[in-house]
Amino acid sequence: MDFPIVDLFDDDVSTVWLLKYFHPHGLKCPHCQASLKDARIFRKLQRSKLTVYRCAKCAGVYTLYSGTVFAGTCLRPAQAILLLRGVCKGEPSATLAREIKLARKTVHELRQALQANAERLQPNTPLKDQRTETDELFQNAGEKRRKTR
Ligand SMILES: [Zn+2]
Repeated sequence: MDFPIVDLFDDDVSTVWLLKYFHPHGLKCPHCQASLKDARIFRKLQRSKLTVYRCAKCAGVYTLYSGTVFAGTCLRPAQAILLLRGVCKGEPSATLAREIKLARKTVHELRQALQANAERLQPNTPLKDQRTETDELFQNAGEKRRKTR
């Protein structure tokens, strides 16, 4: 059974959440790094409900998605969050596509882009220990937890 979960999300609240995680140091112009204070609202996109900003210093335009895998897509902020959640939880693309009202191909392509980013960000340094426990094989957290009492 699919749930119409995307309709239950508020896009303004979703935008605040995405801003926090996509741009932890604040949204900046991707062209000249000017802050959002140096930009004005250029327009609002109808499908995605995203605000497009125009930089006053370089006249470049950007959105919340600029510089992310979602750049150039028409996803609503709620759809972006639910897609990220679904990919992290390993939900099948077909189910995810139906629940967040996207084409299966779109979900599949975004999933591949997210997974490629995750793979690229994996550390490639060897573990420090000579012996590796089974649960450490696929991670490289650096240090083992503190000693137990
Ligand atoms: Zn700029």
